[in-house]
Order: sequence, then structure tokens, then C-alpha cells
Amino acid sequence: MEIDIRKVGMTYPSGKRALKDVGIRLKSPSLTGLLGPNGAGKSTLMKLLAAALMPSSGAVFVNGRPLSEKERELKSLLGYLPQDFGLFDELTVTQFLEYMAALKGLAHRKDAVEEVIHAVNLEEKRKAGIRTLSGGQRQRVGIAQALLGDPPFLILDEPTVGLDPEERIHFRNLFSRRAQNRLVLLSTHIIEDVQSVCDQIIVINHGGILFTGTPGELIQAAEGHVGVFWEEEVSREAGLHITARVNTSRGIRCRAVGDDLPSYARSEEPTLEDAYLYLISREEAR
Ligand code: ADP
Ligand code: MG
Repeated sequence: MEIDIRKVGMTYPSGKRALKDVGIRLKSPSLTGLLGPNGAGKSTLMKLLAAALMPSSGAVFVNGRPLSEKERELKSLLGYLPQDFGLFDELTVTQFLEYMAALKGLAHRKDAVEEVIHAVNLEEKRKAGIRTLSGGQRQRVGIAQALLGDPPFLILDEPTVGLDPEERIHFRNLFSRRAQNRLVLLSTHIIEDVQSVCDQIIVINHGGILFTGTPGELIQAAEGHVGVFWEEEVSREAGLHITARVNTSRGIRCRAVGDDLPSYARSEEPTLEDAYLYLISREEAR
């Protein structure tokens, strides 16, 4: 499975330019994390890949052929969890998943539904009305429908939203297992999820790609740009992006990222979160 996004732009009818000249190549097997602030264009990019939206310029290629020619085929290869997922409140979990399995044209519907109910740990809720589910349980139903038929390409838009820490870990491990021989693209705000399971990262802001590479490469790019110091040492004009501030008995300990760290800052190894914030803050400063 290979997805090639070439010079893709997307302008909504409102005039909002959500993506500008985006170029990315995705190749299985991979678990790729899409990171970026709210409004960066993550969901727009995912909708284009799911053929739920057509680009205003450029093109998406699937296994070397234009997506516009392969739309039907792509849809049969794809599991997609949109960010705003409307569930059918009046159905039970099983009814809803059987309906989705029918839409996907799956052959062994009952088995496929049982398999995903098991995968997302919803056995005891299979007969429950969707209306009666908690936020996290609804999210799990959304993930379940994306997994139906075990597709080789998964697009998951903020899949761990609304899940508690234990559930989040369960799901990111599940995505990681699926990605062993498939292509999984997930967007998230949770750096920990990316750090724990993603082998590739794409950072996007204001509709443009800021970075593609491994988590290690993103960290490397921030080396020498992370420092810690006591708050009383800070001079006004420092222009630092403070990422942590802890009240201690010795004073206020700060951590910051910036292009030029002041002399009183002691340099520290960047974490992935530091590296992400450094990248975004540099772009915002421009
Ligand atoms: P993200 O998922 O990274 O938060 P989105 O892709 O949802 O970002 O949105 C990118 C930009 O496009 C935002 O400024 C958003 O307000 C705008 N946008 C998204 N959907 C539409 C739409 N249907 N019509 C007009 N503007 C939109
Ligand atoms: Mg979004």
C-alpha cells in the first residue's frame, strides 16, 4: 500500500485555504502520526485521503494510480474514523456495526462484527443502545467500524479522544499491532501516543507540512534548543517559549524552547514534546 500526495491544495467554498502545496508519501507498513495545532488542516488532509473530499489542486495517488480513478477500490481497502462521527442513536451496537459491514459490502458480516466487538472490548455492550453509551464507549464503536473487515489502510482522526489512560494504551497498542503489516495514519494531540507507537511523524501547521520523519529525527532537530533555569534568572527580553513551570522550595523552575537560549539556561536533552513545541513556536515567530 503506497499513498503519494502531490502538491495538494484545498480551499473550502468559504474561501478558507486549509491546505497549501502538501506533499507526502506514505508506505506500508507504518504507523504514522499526524500532529498539529487545532485548525492546522489535519482533518482536511484525512478527508482527502479517504476520498470524502476532492482537492482543489494537486492529486493523490494510490499504488501509483490517481485516487480519482481508484475511488471504489480505495474505499474497499480503507477503514476511516472521522473526527465528527455521527452514530445512529436508535440502533444497538451490533445493529450499527452490521449496518456498516453491509455498507462496506463485507461477505462474512456476523463474524466481522464479532471480531471488532472483541477487539474494542465492547462484548458486554453489544446489545446496548448507542444512545446509552458513555463518550469513551461511543468512541470505541467508532474505532470498531473503522476496523471492520481488517482493511490494509486505516485513517483514524483523533481516535483516542475521550478515552481514559488505560483505554488509550489498549488502543494505541492495538493500532501498533495492526500497523505491523498495514498502513495506519492517526492524528492526535497526545504526544505520548505518538512517542509510544509511531515510526513516522508528520507535523502540519497553517495547512503546510513543517516536518516529516522519525520521532528521533524530530528530537534531533531540537538539540541545543531546550533549556532549564530558575524563573528569577529570566530577563524580560528573553523571547522564550516556556513549556514547563514548577513551583519548588528553591524557587520556580522553568523549561523553555527557543532558537537562542540565554546564557543562564542549562541545556537539556529535548523530549518529543519539546521538539514539537520548538518546531511550532519557530514557525509562529516568523
Ligand atoms: P484540524 O483537523 O487540524 O483541527 P481542519 O482540517 O479541521 O483542522 O481545519 C483546517 C482549517 O479549515 C480550519 O481553519 C477550519 O476552520 C477550516 N475548515 C474546516 N472545514 C471547513 C469547511 N467545511 N468549510 C470552511 N472551512 C473549513
Ligand atoms: Mg481535526
